Amino acid sequence: MPYVITQLCVDCLDKGCVEVCPVDCIYVPVAQQAPAATSALPNMLYIHPTECISCGACEPECPWNAIYEDRELPALFHADVALNALCEEQPSRFAVAKPERDAQGRLVPKVKPSHADVAANKVKRGVR
Ligand code: SF4
Ligand code: SF4
Repeated sequence: MPYVITQLCVDCLDKGCVEVCPVDCIYVPVAQQAPAATSALPNMLYIHPTECISCGACEPECPWNAIYEDRELPALFHADVALNALCEEQPSRFAVAKPERDAQGRLVPKVKPSHADVAANKVKRGVR
C-alpha cells in the first residue's frame, strides 16, 4: 500500500521525507502561469501512488506526523489520497522534490518543531 502525505504538511516543506525516499517519488507543485491553476494544490508535498514502493522510510522522518500508510489513514485525511494522486494524474503540474542543500552541497539541517507546534498544527487541521 502506498504512503500518503496529509495536509498536516501544508506550509512545512522541510523535505525531511525527501532525503530518505529511495525512489524519489515525492513531488512538489511547480509554479504555474495562472494563479487559478494552483488553487486546488495545497502548498505541501505529494507521494506518487504508483512509484511509491511502500518502504516506510519517510513516515518516521516527518516531524509533523503528516505521513501515513494509506490503510492507516485517519478518516479526516481520506481525501488526501486523491490529492496525492494528482501528481500522477497531472504530472505537468509537479516536479520531483529535492532536498535543501547549501552552497557546498551539504544537506541543510532541519529545525524540528516543538511538541506544542506539532499539536497546534494538528488542531488547525481538525485533528483532536
Ligand atoms: S514509503 Fe518509501 S518509497 Fe514511499 S514515499 Fe515513503 S520513502 Fe518513498
Ligand atoms: S517531512 Fe513531513 S511535513 Fe516535512 S515536507 Fe515531508 S511530509 Fe511535509
